[in-house]
Amino acid sequence: MRDWLVQQRIKFKMVGGRKSHLVTNWEIQRKMKYEEELDPQFAQDVVKKLGSDNLFGCIQCGTCSATCPVSHHMDYSPRRIIAMTRAGFKDEVMRSFTIWLCASCYSCTVGCPKEIKITELMYTLKQKAIEEKVYPSRFPIPVLAREFARTVRNFGRNHEGLLLLRMFLKTNPFKLFTMSGLGSKLFFKGRLEIMPHTIKGKQQLLNILHAVENGNGNGNHGQ
Ligand code: SF4
Ligand code: SF4
Repeated sequence: MRDWLVQQRIKFKMVGGRKSHLVTNWEIQRKMKYEEELDPQFAQDVVKKLGSDNLFGCIQCGTCSATCPVSHHMDYSPRRIIAMTRAGFKDEVMRSFTIWLCASCYSCTVGCPKEIKITELMYTLKQKAIEEKVYPSRFPIPVLAREFARTVRNFGRNHEGLLLLRMFLKTNPFKLFTMSGLGSKLFFKGRLEIMPHTIKGKQQLLNILHAVENGNGNGNHGQ
């Protein structure tokens, strides 16, 4: 009986003088994180992959977040992503939508007074999230990035039709029906090939990708 009363009191908890939405015992979760739950190695792993440790020089001025054109859609602003990466909030950073919403416009990098490579950091976190298979499930951007990389590996180049087909099947199959009209228009105008073609010298491309992945290349952009 006492438990039931406690539960009812929680259910009708008042927030700001008004009844909140129904809150039950099992919905109550701790919001703060203890230090022992953080990953102290995370920042070092990211720095190693990024090839630069200048994110430790961040002064949290917020210029990157202010200049970012999509920060208002992000769950954590670029400034917060840097702070959380340094502090070891691995789970939150790796599963955030922010890294997938980054449009690679470089505004943050250009404006940063400490010359921190924020865009490169976003790429690095994306790569890491794909490698560790942690990203928002059914969110189209990571699926698109992964399928693009797979198509390029298989054929040496991208194939738009196959890429979209795979992406919709893995995110929202119903979208295929709504896009079918546009697809058939593109096909009859000769803008959409049915079958993918493999390029000549595909092995050379694979060698380049292999070199980049193993840190022998200069780029960080392979996804
Ligand atoms: S602009 Fe540079 S120094 Fe300022 S918060 Fe962003 S990363 Fe840090
Ligand atoms: S590169 Fe990404 S994080 Fe930086 S300003 Fe552009 S969208 Fe925002």
